[in-house]
Amino acid sequence: MQELTFLVKGSAKEPYEIIFIKDGDSLTAICNCPAGTYSNLCKHRVNILDGKSAGISSDNADQVSTVVSWLAGTDVEAALLELRQLEKSRDTDKNALNDAKRKLARAMNT
Ligand SMILES: [Zn+2]
Repeated sequence: MQELTFLVKGSAKEPYEIIFIKDGDSLTAICNCPAGTYSNLCKHRVNILDGKSAGISSDNADQVSTVVSWLAGTDVEAALLELRQLEKSRDTDKNALNDAKRKLARAMNT
């Protein structure tokens, strides 16, 4: 089992503590921000999983890449990929919707 802890500056006075635990095929990420405390998604964990080290105030920002490497083959990776795909298709749908609105506007003006 491997474990890494990061401190990230958030909206609170004290930095949030984010702990990643890699145990075999399982990756656990814990954050003590308000969202994380209620088991909701928070950007602090997702940012690190995305390889972003912005906001990290602990001196181990270079270990973000280690956490990213822990993602491979985990449930977290699968769920993150699913989210990214849905975000992409949402953007595609939004573009298609805007195109349809423009087309309707054009149709009404000719
Ligand atoms: Zn958080």
